[in-house]
Amino acid sequence: MQTDPRILGIEATVKELRSGNRVVLARSITLIESSREDHQSFAQQLLNEIVPLCGNSIRVGISGVPGAGKSTFIESFGLFLLNLGRKVAVLAIDPSSARTGGSILGDKTRMSELSLQQNAFIRPSPTGGTLGGVSAKTRESMLLCEAAGFDTILVETVGVGQSEHAVSGMVDFFMVLMLARAGDELQGIKRGILELADALIINKTDTEDPMRVQRARLDYENALKLVHGFSGEGFKQGWVPKVLSASGLTGLGLPEIWEHVCERVKNLPISFRADQQVAWFWTLVHQGLLSHLEQNERVLLNKARIELSVRNGTLSPLDAAQEILELFL
Ligand code: GDP
Repeated sequence: MQTDPRILGIEATVKELRSGNRVVLARSITLIESSREDHQSFAQQLLNEIVPLCGNSIRVGISGVPGAGKSTFIESFGLFLLNLGRKVAVLAIDPSSARTGGSILGDKTRMSELSLQQNAFIRPSPTGGTLGGVSAKTRESMLLCEAAGFDTILVETVGVGQSEHAVSGMVDFFMVLMLARAGDELQGIKRGILELADALIINKTDTEDPMRVQRARLDYENALKLVHGFSGEGFKQGWVPKVLSASGLTGLGLPEIWEHVCERVKNLPISFRADQQVAWFWTLVHQGLLSHLEQNERVLLNKARIELSVRNGTLSPLDAAQEILELFL
């Protein structure tokens, strides 16, 4: 059967997506991620067709430093959700594409059991992209998965910073996997990530001393209170972030985590998705502007000269930025 969206055309691609064709889904995501102009124009048309079919899934962001247990957790959580009758798509990190150029954790297959399941779809995406952890097309990929009937989307991110910020702005629930052992120094966790988290999950508790887990929980709860204000006025739109414990290996704590996700989703403010749409629109505007700037002929012609002047100190970065912008405008 033909599975290339460009040969199928928009109408047939949408039909195949709606019938849950995972090969067409994967190839559509590849087109969306492509930087080729003809691919982009096809992708844009496809997205316009499917946007009205989207928005009916629960979207969950799952973050944590390498080794926190994300892929093990996502595999268990995904299988747990399949058992509840849900259809699960995972937008995962492709570890072989990390900035180091090599694999972070060797070439072990990630989420191997989940990937065999009929109602699951796993898409590893390169992490080296614009956001240092999330593909620039994560949101669009999410929409394609929804059009293909996946009602639960898990988005994996690694690291701290921009990628978490980007993902937390696209999902309904954002959780960060932590380790009990690192509780003392809060494992260098940035204030920013505490602001974003709907839940901190103390992971790998199967092998932890319960006292240590309890202490970590108190530490994390205090850290959250410091960030959000003790009276709770700073909490995220009526949601008090939770500290929960789990083991991706044994499945401990997964039902409770899912309960919290559902409770949060049930009580999301009406404007929540609309606000995210507006944010997406501005992200697209920013991306578009940047891409025009980078391709602008006058900018390209003068870039090397201006960079050199900044490098040898004859032009200040401030004046250089002004000059580039003037050339562009
Ligand atoms: P990731 O880099 O965050 O995706 O972490 P992985 O899921 O690859 O896990 C890193 C290591 O921790 C692996 O050796 C796992 O077997 C182990 N691990 C992951 N989750 C658990 C858990 O819940 N309990 C225990 N004891 N080990 C775990």
